[in-house]
Amino acid sequence: MTRIVAVANQKGGVGKTTTSVNLAAAIALQDKSVLLIDLDPQGNATSGVGVDPRSLQKTIYNCLIKQDICENIILKTSINGLSILPSNADLAGAEIELANADGRENHLRDAIKNIHNVYDVIVLDCPPALGILTINALTAAKSVLIPVQCEYYAMEGLSRLIGSIERVKQSINLDLFIEGIVLTMFDARNTLARQVSEQVRNHFGSKVYQAVIPRNVTLAEAPSYGRPGILYNAASSGSQAYLSLAKEFLDHGEKSTR
Ligand code: ADP
Ligand code: MG
Repeated sequence: MTRIVAVANQKGGVGKTTTSVNLAAAIALQDKSVLLIDLDPQGNATSGVGVDPRSLQKTIYNCLIKQDICENIILKTSINGLSILPSNADLAGAEIELANADGRENHLRDAIKNIHNVYDVIVLDCPPALGILTINALTAAKSVLIPVQCEYYAMEGLSRLIGSIERVKQSINLDLFIEGIVLTMFDARNTLARQVSEQVRNHFGSKVYQAVIPRNVTLAEAPSYGRPGILYNAASSGSQAYLSLAKEFLDHGEKSTR
């Protein structure tokens, strides 16, 4: 069974794309076949795996709005086992075009329904909003992985996101569940970061991954080379943390399908 996981948080800059790209690449390294779907018009996941968003004739936009077949738009990356359904600025129009479309929440789910079996894991990199694109991701996904940056208002943001997940679950996607919460850009010297991390762990318990992603220069630099951090410099603390996260993610999957 394909695992379809939406990496979501309506806050920008919390590490959604960095998590999507590194998790997808780390899973592909384990001889799995992985599709990364870029749902952000900024196209950072696309460029993060080495594809220039400006070079693309067709993107996820065409699958969502023009009903183009996504097999024709998916690209293989230079990373063995990892493919990308890319995005670029064209997707910015999709919010408005989807707003009045029939079954507007279901477009992504319908677009990928024929390719499920081709991949072991599909990772959806969501945009920084709870708009119709994120709702499409929550409708198409089986689970949600939430990156949380340990700073002020992290908990408030989380409860809004969980409210949206609950609404999608009740109305269209009954089996949707929270895959896990990952603490990102963590700085252990920062008292507030430690306090927020403790709050998140007290509240969400075992849903919070043991792996904590530190603030790390490799992860910040790697996108400018079009490489996931885990491949650009595997020894760095950030890469090691994402490799641990991927292991936890895969271990959970094995437990739940046993
Ligand atoms: P989002 O997708 O939630 O907007 P990004 O993953 O794009 O967030 O991260 C925002 C910025 O922070 C990017 O410039 C990214 O390279 C950088 N970044 C993300 N995670 C880390 C980290 N653990 N350490 C250092 N920089 C990071
Ligand atoms: Mg992003």
